Amino acid sequence: MKLSLLIPFYNEEEQLKHTLDTVRPILRSVTQDYEIIAVDDGSRDRTWEVLSDEARRDPRVHAIRFSRNFGKEAAICAAMEAVQGDIAILMDGDLQHPPRYIPEMVRLWKEEGYDVVEGVKASRGKENLLYKAVAGSFYRIFSKMSGVDMDNASDFKLLDRKVVDAWNRLGEHNTFFRGLSSWLGYKRYELPFVVEEREFGQSKWNFRGLWRLSTNAMFSFSTVPLTFVTGIGVVFLLMAFIIGVITLIRYFNHTAVEGFTTVILLLLISGGATLLSLGLIGTYIARIYDEVKGRPRYLKMTEINPSPLGAASEPADEV
Ligand code: UDP
Ligand code: MG
Repeated sequence: MKLSLLIPFYNEEEQLKHTLDTVRPILRSVTQDYEIIAVDDGSRDRTWEVLSDEARRDPRVHAIRFSRNFGKEAAICAAMEAVQGDIAILMDGDLQHPPRYIPEMVRLWKEEGYDVVEGVKASRGKENLLYKAVAGSFYRIFSKMSGVDMDNASDFKLLDRKVVDAWNRLGEHNTFFRGLSSWLGYKRYELPFVVEEREFGQSKWNFRGLWRLSTNAMFSFSTVPLTFVTGIGVVFLLMAFIIGVITLIRYFNHTAVEGFTTVILLLLISGGATLLSLGLIGTYIARIYDEVKGRPRYLKMTEINPSPLGAASEPADEV
């Protein structure tokens, strides 16, 4: 059995070596045939220096460096495309997804035949209150809209080879790993895990990143916002009808012209609704434009040990 461990890193110079050192003995206890695909997502600190150093010393570390920060989703895509193992396990580079669960995940795949083992947050660990509130309400709204329970979902997952292939064939640009991987289906198992605290550095998410991720999730996953627009339209038509009838009755009773309140309100409300609808439609069009352009999801700048599994299993005759 060949195992690929996928880890995205962004500005993790203090953390990277510690993560790799923690993970190696655990992987070795599972199989001798493993590779670690580490993606440096355009870090601005010394992450690449540390990573390339590791990759040069350990042929099982496949290091990929992006030309700039493309975001965690892109890093996941790049790593997924590089997978050579029979199974792929994705985890965060900051050890918040504790690697000690890996043997159990592999056992579930091997002995119980699950294709996807999903890490589900049993507790969210220490997150700051604002983040908790934002993430919490986002996932609740998203769960309602898409019908996928996302509240405690995480990116900590084991995927069988066929699921990895299916993922790689999706060809979408704005991906949302957590949602899309459950959209794929297959035989799934939910494994609760306790989120560990981050030891070094700090969370890499800022408001912009979270906004990008949530709009991505929302718009590439559901057309509910568009339905919502239609809904608003129907409501306003109804209101217009009622108000129209009232105005007519007033007109025939000779009690019309009370003031401009209604007119102003109507203008404001319908103006708002129109702008909102246009904005929503625009967002979808922007997305279509984005996909149609067919730009690559990421650009690789450097790569070390592109096929560690193959290299590791070949006899060392060229030394
Ligand atoms: N990450 C990344 N690109 C980014 C942001 C984050 O590759 O643009 C990586 C980061 O290095 C870490 C993982 O994604 O390995 C999770 O990030 P973080 O710990 O900041 O997120 P949180 O745990 O706060 O959700
Ligand atoms: Mg983290």
